[in-house]
Amino acid sequence: EDWPQQGGIDISGVSASYDTSSEPVLIGIDLKIHPGEKVALCGRTGSGKSSLISAILRILELNSGTILIDGIDISKVSRAHVRSSINTIPQQPFFLHGTVRLNANPEGNATDETIIASLRAVNIWSYIELKGGLDVDMSDDFLSHGQQQLFCLARALCKSSSIIIMDEATSSVDSETDTLMQTVIRTHFKNQTVVAIAHKLHTILDFDKVALMENGKIVEFDTPKAL
Ligand code: ATP
Ligand code: MG
Repeated sequence: EDWPQQGGIDISGVSASYDTSSEPVLIGIDLKIHPGEKVALCGRTGSGKSSLISAILRILELNSGTILIDGIDISKVSRAHVRSSINTIPQQPFFLHGTVRLNANPEGNATDETIIASLRAVNIWSYIELKGGLDVDMSDDFLSHGQQQLFCLARALCKSSSIIIMDEATSSVDSETDTLMQTVIRTHFKNQTVVAIAHKLHTILDFDKVALMENGKIVEFDTPKAL
């Protein structure tokens, strides 16, 4: 609960592969992300972006190197603790069988006011309220795909963490929704560290730094303007 406080991520000499016999998918990665910095991860398909995120979440184990979060080596922290301490917005929205309240805050630690404010922030509260509010059950066709992605962003807003990681969270929304998501991310996560896989140029321009990946390596790390 008290870690990470600052949200600094220090990756050094990281190599990793999915199994011992296969080629490494991350090779000699060095990346220092300062607390509060917004970093876009870019690169072609298969370049290793999702794998790097998996390594930060301790889903993918390292062959060598270290990942420190606020100075703590994550290999010394339980996987469950690492994962629950980082706020992730997945590429593919997922939902539990249950109510809006449960889905917006699976941890069950946010007040109804916080949940409603989060759903309002992403512009889907009026729709959900019309459907019955926080107690309504979320069936498969309850939300459109774009609304599902907004809902997952609202879920992240309900959770307090100094690090937010996103894997193409805005990939399949229309441009209006995309703009809303970017604005919410910028305003609500202003003081948090954000690491996001991003494809669209206008999204990338909003970030402090861009890390460009190629064949498992970071080939550029600079401001979007410099690249
Ligand atoms: P995309 O833009 O398509 O999402 P990416 O940059 O996220 O691509 P990764 O998913 O990290 O790329 O893939 C890097 C390499 O790791 C690829 O060669 C891929 O085939 C391999 N890979 C990814 N996930 C697994 C897995 N679960 N098991 C084995 N190999 C994997
Ligand atoms: Mg990926």
